[in-house]
Amino acid sequence: MLVTLRQIMQQVRAAPTLDDALAVIIRQVKKAVRVDACAVYLADVERDDCVLAAAEGLTPDSIGSVRVRFGEGLVGLVAERKELIVETDAGAHPNRHLSTDALHQRDGSFLGTPLIHYRKLLGVLVAWKPVHQPYARDEVTFFLSLGAQLAKAVHDAETIDAVTALLGGQHSRDPFVQGISAARGLAIGRAVLVGAQTKLDSIPDREVQDVAAEVLAFEAAIAAARQALRSGGDGLAGVVPEDVSSLFAVYAMLLGNDSLVLDTIERIRSGSWASGAWRETVSRHAAIFEQMEDPYLRTRADDIRELGEYVLTQLQSRETAFAESPGRCILVGDTLGLTHIAAIPAGRLAGLVSTRGSPLSHMAVLARALGIPAVVSLVAFPGGRLAGSEMVVDGDEGRVYIQPSPRLLAIFQRRIHEAGMRAERLAAMRELPAETLDGTRVHLHANIGLPADIASAAASGAEGVGLYRTEYGFLLSDTLPGEDDQRASYREVLAAFAPRPVTLRTLDVGGDKMLSYFPAVEDNPFLGCRGIRFSLDQPEIFLIQLRAMLRANAGLSNLQVLFPMVGTVGEVDEALGLLERAYRELEEEGQDAARPGVGVMIEVPSSVHLAEILIQRVDFLSIGSNDLTQYMLAVDRNNAQVVTPYDGLHPAVLNAIHQVIEAAHRQGKPVSICGEMAGDPAGALLLLGMGADTLSMSPALLAEVKLAIRCFTRARARSLADTALGMSDGFSIHRLMHGALEEIRGCPETVGVQLQ
Ligand code: PEP
Ligand code: MG
Repeated sequence: MLVTLRQIMQQVRAAPTLDDALAVIIRQVKKAVRVDACAVYLADVERDDCVLAAAEGLTPDSIGSVRVRFGEGLVGLVAERKELIVETDAGAHPNRHLSTDALHQRDGSFLGTPLIHYRKLLGVLVAWKPVHQPYARDEVTFFLSLGAQLAKAVHDAETIDAVTALLGGQHSRDPFVQGISAARGLAIGRAVLVGAQTKLDSIPDREVQDVAAEVLAFEAAIAAARQALRSGGDGLAGVVPEDVSSLFAVYAMLLGNDSLVLDTIERIRSGSWASGAWRETVSRHAAIFEQMEDPYLRTRADDIRELGEYVLTQLQSRETAFAESPGRCILVGDTLGLTHIAAIPAGRLAGLVSTRGSPLSHMAVLARALGIPAVVSLVAFPGGRLAGSEMVVDGDEGRVYIQPSPRLLAIFQRRIHEAGMRAERLAAMRELPAETLDGTRVHLHANIGLPADIASAAASGAEGVGLYRTEYGFLLSDTLPGEDDQRASYREVLAAFAPRPVTLRTLDVGGDKMLSYFPAVEDNPFLGCRGIRFSLDQPEIFLIQLRAMLRANAGLSNLQVLFPMVGTVGEVDEALGLLERAYRELEEEGQDAARPGVGVMIEVPSSVHLAEILIQRVDFLSIGSNDLTQYMLAVDRNNAQVVTPYDGLHPAVLNAIHQVIEAAHRQGKPVSICGEMAGDPAGALLLLGMGADTLSMSPALLAEVKLAIRCFTRARARSLADTALGMSDGFSIHRLMHGALEEIRGCPETVGVQLQ
């Protein structure tokens, strides 16, 4: 049956539309399991019912018209309970008579399984056999497996169908594609595609804006592709058999073929943009080879297509340089990296949309730091067909609207205007201290990662930098940055904030932050060579960074060095030893340097339990709640499928944080929190209640957190924290904090600040 399942799913994936896919399923399932009838219902959550979408063995005219309410009949019961129901005598089931439709009063042996994807009910798969005929155990498991796979196929197909309908202009209202909010805020702009959009067939037709520039860009892409192919072939010579490495030469030669290049240029001159012109040329040339008699020459068609995709990648990397993209850009890609974001001229990036990732991916962290709305995990979002389309990104609701109507645009323009006014009013808080109503001061610091962020951090009113992610500079560079370059950029940040403290975190690469010039292949990179482990494995790189930091601190003395991902006491001792060595080396060389304060990040469970020992070796602790949550709850911060269990307010995480704060305070030392939790008003209040000394967050979030702090007393925050620490589940804690945040509405601080 496994083979059958695989075959069915292959056919489903090949089906062009959702209706075709469902028809395949039904036909094949009926054959494989030998049932009398089989049907798929799709859920309509807004109407609280399911509609019959495909059926075999039932009257065909019922498709699309028969609806069954959740809870009604056996089908409705499967939908309501979201669980498998097997009933060998459906006629005898009490629920059967609750259905008004004859179809659902059908007698027989019933099996129904819900189609659930990301916890959302998408439909029900149903089968009937003659009455009293039981379902064998492997038939039931077959249905369960099929249901799980079908749910994903329905989810993907619904998204694609919706977008196809939109692009075809078949929409009367403004449908949206639902993802997950990764950074709040609203944006309107045009889609700019990034990376992995290498499917030539999905390139849309578009008119060229500037013919000469487009021809130049195309020629540059061809030259870059030829160069890359030649060096790729050279690099593999002697490593792989000659016939493989010589393929590179064949491809480079094909690109030297005037007809491929000249035909494309001709098409650009006739009005097409380069990618569209290239698609057309490649498909025509491939078609010519395909029709040839000679089997060898026929296979050249595949080579031409592959080459086509390759050149397209070059062309698209040029597109992300935004040479000709007009106005505000919405970056769209499978995954968006720092380099994509950094390639955009200042002020042009309006929003981020990605098909993968989660709100805790580093891309999302960066989006929040930049104050740019982001929606992630738009599974099956056909980005490749949307280049240049107008979009609205609703980061508050996690939605993306494609080609919005004038009515919708007007609504969002108004909302964007209102949000701007609110931000202005909040900015008035800049000079006020983060002080509770009963006089407790909390230090609010900024999380940044590049010297370019200094201005936004300073403008936010941050009292210092609580986390400077030094790896961003490494990720943006093509090679390892040298000591002098590092010193210069660290100095810029230290000088901008002196005498206020600046916490430079040592290199935290690994996991989802791999250095291109230090590739590592690990099965499980988040449990691999990350953070301090990498630095201790590469002491030379580490020493250069430490020397650069100490030199940058000369004459300023506002530096705090922070070690990430510490899991053992030995790691801290080793890191401190290298720090000392760096200082002595500089001293011996007669270089100006100053010793820093030192902190350890608490972001893996072992360090929670070692907190009291660790703090005795350093000056402060900084809790990285993003990773701490990931490692304590065993949920991948990048996996959208586990976005619900990933909960920073989980009682286990809160108790761990509380334990760390108490341990540090027993030793008379301070604790900072620099994970995303500190930038969320609910999290910030709980941290304040637990006694955190410093909260460090994206500058864009600072004003909201300050507002919350100024509206509460420390005593109230402490009582909320005490209650939360005694709770057994995150849901109750969220509810508690949701209610508490309502109190802000009555706070005098909010006068003039329209609350959301
Ligand atoms: C954290 O893990 O909470 C943290 C601040 O570090 P990063 O998000 O950079 O991993
Ligand atoms: Mg971390």
